[in-house]
Amino acid sequence: MPTQNIQNFDSCVSFFIKNGTYQGRLIRLNKVLDEILTRHAYPLPVSAVLAENTVLATMLASTIKYEGLFTLQTQSNGPVSMIVVDVTSEGKIRGYARYDENHLNKNQELRKTRGQIEPSPHLMGNGYLAFTVDQGSKTDLYQGIVDLQGKTLSECALRYFKQSEQIDTDIKLFLQAPTGESKHWLGAGIMLQKMPLKGGNNSIEEDDAKEAWEEAKIFMESLNADEVFNSALNAQDILHRLFHAHDLQIFNSRNYEFKCRCNREKLLNTLSSFSEEEINSMIENNKISATCQFCSEQYTFERGEIIKQ
Ligand SMILES: [Zn+2]
Repeated sequence: MPTQNIQNFDSCVSFFIKNGTYQGRLIRLNKVLDEILTRHAYPLPVSAVLAENTVLATMLASTIKYEGLFTLQTQSNGPVSMIVVDVTSEGKIRGYARYDENHLNKNQELRKTRGQIEPSPHLMGNGYLAFTVDQGSKTDLYQGIVDLQGKTLSECALRYFKQSEQIDTDIKLFLQAPTGESKHWLGAGIMLQKMPLKGGNNSIEEDDAKEAWEEAKIFMESLNADEVFNSALNAQDILHRLFHAHDLQIFNSRNYEFKCRCNREKLLNTLSSFSEEEINSMIENNKISATCQFCSEQYTFERGEIIKQ
């Protein structure tokens, strides 16, 4: 089990309980969220929506075996109209949000929640959440999609598992914004899934299976924010507290970090594909400035770099 270099935060631990009948994930993020959110400087409620979606994206990505890029994307009619988070198979995460400030203020004014964190679906509105896995040209794009319905983001995600994968799943997400004492964002999630194949199920009679699943969910749901955000506890400590009486087996773990894949050359290539007219409309003082939407890095190009006469 490769756990020796596993960080308490910015990591995911995969585990089995009840003799391999259920598998789970425990994800805790801090620096990744701080890095993503400080680069954008969104209003607090928007940062919270992006942070929660980042935890969910990391969780969904961790359940898929892929070599390439996992992307979670939402499109909706609320004040936060779009979220994009991507997670590479090497564990590099980045993300951004699109939002309308007036719409956000009006919405929060109506609900008297101005400046406060709200459940993500309130600010996302109606629309969908989709995820894709791009493994390059070798394999097809894998895609999942679900309507944004539910009181919480975890309810939306559970709808996906119910409708599309038909695997018994439970998810609980946690979020903590910077407070007086701590200037850091904290996000976490725990997930439990019944294994789709017989495998370890043999040990549980069909009649008892439902009861066993309900019991496992109760233990998972008992995890609280104080515990999951306690930096003195590592993932094994937390999981041991929840599932020590249920044949807990940790089988995999990995670290994550923030990293954007933008660079000058890529951006130059993109700009070079624009027409001369489009480029001319972007020129100011003989220069073109472009900002990476994922990390807010600014790039400046001379006109001559893009339009080669
Ligand atoms: Zn970037």
